[in-house]
Amino acid sequence: MKLIDSFKQTKFAAFLKKTPFYEIWSGRKKSSFFVIWSKYKRRIRTIYLSGKLSLVAGLVIDKLDVVITTKCNLQCEGCSHLMPYYKNPGHLDKDRVIASIRELAKAVDWFGHFNILGGEPFLSPDLKYIMEEIPVEKCHLVQVLTNATIVPKDPELFDVMRRKGVHVVITPYPSNEQTREQLIAVLEREHVAWNYYYPRWTDHGEPCHHHRSPRELQRQFAHCTSVCKNLLDGRLYYCFRCAHIYDLGFCQRLEGEAVDLLKNTTAQNRKQLRRLLRRRKPFTACQYCLRGTNQNVGISRGK
Ligand code: SF4
Repeated sequence: MKLIDSFKQTKFAAFLKKTPFYEIWSGRKKSSFFVIWSKYKRRIRTIYLSGKLSLVAGLVIDKLDVVITTKCNLQCEGCSHLMPYYKNPGHLDKDRVIASIRELAKAVDWFGHFNILGGEPFLSPDLKYIMEEIPVEKCHLVQVLTNATIVPKDPELFDVMRRKGVHVVITPYPSNEQTREQLIAVLEREHVAWNYYYPRWTDHGEPCHHHRSPRELQRQFAHCTSVCKNLLDGRLYYCFRCAHIYDLGFCQRLEGEAVDLLKNTTAQNRKQLRRLLRRRKPFTACQYCLRGTNQNVGISRGK
């Protein structure tokens, strides 16, 4: 008994008490493999993707969104990327976007999904030049995500999409019923691959401070399922919400909350990217987001 009592005083016993295994083992909580899995799935997935997989493939970004414009011809309520909050939306500087893609491609060994998006990417006159820079040899899948309200006509754009194997991903919205059919017809004619995407929209909330305690923030971050990293104006962010919250100036970005690709050497970028991808601490921007909380409920998709 003495031995057990002295074990209970150790730091290791205190650590064990914080794990769900202790609660199950001690009979305090009826649980199952699935409860443990749901509690730890984010961590397990992150370790798997950026840890185990990195051992084989080097530095991996599973999903990347490259923002090329903040202009959008739909102003959807509940847009989690906060496009309606841009008072002066515009196309991002082409040279900066290209330079940041080049720097990222030098630092990263493999991309899963390499997505081009906006706003609405077909509004940007620079789309074809930016697509030329996509490091397709390092990508599993290259996609351009569109709201299908614009039917591009530029033959050079179709040419680069064919050469680079770009898939056009169409999200059906009520407002694009007619143009969607036209866009599909043009893509078929030009032999450009396309597919539908039916995302489930959830409420990420107004970008206002939610006054959560550090413990609540940590829990929110642990339950957040966002996996897409975001490249915006020369910086790589952990998620789309972080990118736009900081870009719109809703809160101050702290050191280590993004990687400034254009200011660093490749070695520095690689080191900082590794640190960002493996991050376990919430971001300042999480205070301005509902993801990972029980308020992050389903909402209707777009306009
Ligand atoms: S801001 Fe935080 S909670 Fe919101 S999506 Fe990004 S990491 Fe998740």
